[in-house]
Amino acid sequence: MYQHLQSENMANRYYSCVACDKKGLDKDTVGINKKLLGIDVKSFYCMDCLADYLGCNVQDIRDKIEVFKEEGCKLFQ
Ligand SMILES: [Zn+2]
Repeated sequence: MYQHLQSENMANRYYSCVACDKKGLDKDTVGINKKLLGIDVKSFYCMDCLADYLGCNVQDIRDKIEVFKEEGCKLFQ
């Protein structure tokens, strides 16, 4: 099983994709996972797998991140 994430304050480099095990998901990637999948989500997808999961493409997700940033969403600060 996946190691329990010990703390929300842990550096994002400890986050890895639950689907492909890509390491070092950046804070935008983690933020969009929380935004789209739920704030309490414990498993994160990389951009590629998230796009696959949602049935859209990576650029769509990047566009969403930019919109959320412009709205001042704290998940992306
Ligand atoms: Zn992945």
